Amino acid sequence: MSLQQTITEFRSQFRGNVLAPEDTGYDEARKVYNGMIDRKPALVAQCTDVADVIAAVKMARASGLQVSIRGGGHNAAGLGVCDDGLVIDLAPIRYVRVDPASRTVRVGGGCKWSDVDHATHAFGLAVPSGIISTTGVGGLTLGGGMGHLSRKYGLTIDNLLAADIVLADGSFVVASADENPDLFWALRGGGGNFGVVTSFLFQAQPVSTVCAGPMLWNLEDAADIMKWYREFISRAPEEMNGFFAMMTVPPGPPFPEELHLRKMCGIVWCYQGPMEQANAILQPVRDYRKPAFELFMAMPFPMLQGLFDAVYPPGLQWYWKADFFKELSDEAIAKHLEHGSQLPTWQSTMHLYPVNGNVHRVGENETAFGYRDAVWSGVIVGVDPDPANRGKIVDWAKAYYEALHPFGSGGAYVNFMMEEGQERVRESYRGNYQRLAAIKAKYDPENFFRVNQNIRPAAA
Ligand SMILES: Cc1cc2nc3c(=O)[nH]c(=O)nc-3n(C[C@H](O)[C@H](O)[C@H](O)COP(=O)(O)OP(=O)(O)OC[C@H]3O[C@@H](n4cnc5c(N)ncnc54)[C@H](O)[C@@H]3O)c2cc1C
Repeated sequence: MSLQQTITEFRSQFRGNVLAPEDTGYDEARKVYNGMIDRKPALVAQCTDVADVIAAVKMARASGLQVSIRGGGHNAAGLGVCDDGLVIDLAPIRYVRVDPASRTVRVGGGCKWSDVDHATHAFGLAVPSGIISTTGVGGLTLGGGMGHLSRKYGLTIDNLLAADIVLADGSFVVASADENPDLFWALRGGGGNFGVVTSFLFQAQPVSTVCAGPMLWNLEDAADIMKWYREFISRAPEEMNGFFAMMTVPPGPPFPEELHLRKMCGIVWCYQGPMEQANAILQPVRDYRKPAFELFMAMPFPMLQGLFDAVYPPGLQWYWKADFFKELSDEAIAKHLEHGSQLPTWQSTMHLYPVNGNVHRVGENETAFGYRDAVWSGVIVGVDPDPANRGKIVDWAKAYYEALHPFGSGGAYVNFMMEEGQERVRESYRGNYQRLAAIKAKYDPENFFRVNQNIRPAAA
């Protein structure tokens, strides 16, 4: 059968839209969150259900088209979209069903975190995810998932109970502790390497109103604040989370005008408990170095998740560099100040996420996530709307990374990486790579799913 015939037959079996370059909507459908990515797939198949996903996988196999899987389309490297191939776009599979009795949540493979937060909040629940509501559930979960609730409740994968998945041969399986446990192990950190996850089943946690928001300090206090923070965050009650940022104050409300566009450092807190307790825990830092500004208040958890959405609309240019760290030495802090004080554009930033608490209670080999023993997950992001500033943000992020990398543990969180080559993927899975490669050989021996942080199938 010719490619054209295969595609015609495929369209007849498919419920969602199938968009080719000549179709209206194609240019919108191929866009991803990172405006630096400009790939032109042969087809975008907007799947409405599992049957559509199975048809798309079978069609790609029959026609020899490469595939990419698109969840929320947020991946920095643009791994949801490919050139000349078939994009399996899960965006229309967007349902959330909360079961309050078992506190579990069934989530469609194309959901964004805002969909989940909205649905769970009505029941006083939340699934631990990241720090921004527009990110896709699919990619964030499969890479690990770290955010505001990690210290208390672990990574997103530590709250994953089961997944429905369409494999490379078009078959459908469930992965859980009881069914296909090897696949379930691999899905928890191994990314989009094993198939198309059409639905996730999560354990939700009792999170409703949190005391949260940023505290900002002038750059002259940054070294002292970093030193204070590195001691504090590993010992603080696990209900208290806080990530550190080198950042520029956004030029608009609610920030006071005199601070607009000032380079500062900050900690974004999230406390699960009453305000009096939160204030008692944070009073020492207020007494130590008075924040130049703070917006710390009680808010519904979904509001915290959406706090930075307006600062980072889709379509900006993004360049990411990342590393895991075991310690934050005085020398590393000096490098942070040197490079963090040179943020090239106001949306560029550096975040340090604490990795401790419940993340450390899961063993190094219990899931595919490669760095349970990390203490920090660092990410440097150059961001700007103007493609003309691409060189500027890339050069800054690379120089910052080069300065900090010698202090790192070797690998990085796969969800914070660009396409950085096979060696970097291996470094980031470390001791778990061989087992991942063996599971890849079992479920996807021909490396059909390879537009991702790719795990190569182990040789037979
Ligand atoms: C502004 C911003 C903030 C972020 N904040 C955080 C954070 O706080 N914490 C954190 O952990 N990460 C964070 N990330 C990183 C995020 O986890 C990754 O970008 C992730 O890849 C996004 O997932 P996605 O589904 O939106 O991406 P996509 O681009 O759609 O996909 C990314 C990868 O996952 C695969 N994939 C996606 N969905 C599926 C699926 N259903 N089945 C199989 N494979 C799938 C794709 O094939 C691709 O390889 C952030 C990213 C951005 C841009």
